[in-house]
Amino acid sequence: MKKKHLAMILSKLEGFKDPKPELEQYRTPGDVAAEMLWLALSMGDLEGRVIADLGAGTGILTVGACLLGAKKVYAVEVDRPALKVLERNVGLYGFEDRVEVIQSDVSEFSEGVDSVIMNPPFGSQNPKADRKFLLKAFEISDVVYSIHLAKPEVRRFIERFAGDFSFSITHKITVPFEIPAQFFFHRKKLERIKVDIYRFSRV
Ligand code: SAH
Repeated sequence: MKKKHLAMILSKLEGFKDPKPELEQYRTPGDVAAEMLWLALSMGDLEGRVIADLGAGTGILTVGACLLGAKKVYAVEVDRPALKVLERNVGLYGFEDRVEVIQSDVSEFSEGVDSVIMNPPFGSQNPKADRKFLLKAFEISDVVYSIHLAKPEVRRFIERFAGDFSFSITHKITVPFEIPAQFFFHRKKLERIKVDIYRFSRV
């Protein structure tokens, strides 16, 4: 499979039915998801590995990881309606035996995994939402892929936070990301922002 093909497949998956702003429910665009998954594949962090997708939402990263050969994916998500959609997306490709769906807050999940792959809340609604995700990811895995806003203050925070937990940033790829307007503005149809895709590795 090619990266472009993966992006196309992922962008066609079913999205959130009634997205909840307080949970920052916006799906990762197909091309951004493919970029992160492709990096993970090329680093040997995906194929045959046990993965956790924290805040799995409708399952775009979960399905993508399975398509690229993950052995098992824990899809951890607090929101029941989102998991209904995830289950349909996983079922579409017959990945039920490789995906374990866990409905809970990320802080309650405690399985050790080979890699975490996540697009957590950016913290625009609850300023500390992203911390909880990083904290959990650094606890359960030596390798973490995550997406955060490409803003100077966020970058400074991420660098310091990773360092505090003895993780180094081995890769950072900056890409455009489109967020549906309902979360921020009502006049524009889409809000175009920039995000950083990170790969963290335990030092
Ligand atoms: N990973 C998906 C969804 C990203 S949106 C994708 O890439 O498309 C962030 C997701 O995190 C939402 O589905 C939201 O419901 C979930 N979420 C937010 N806070 C959470 C928490 N504390 N525990 C578990 N899931 C949470």
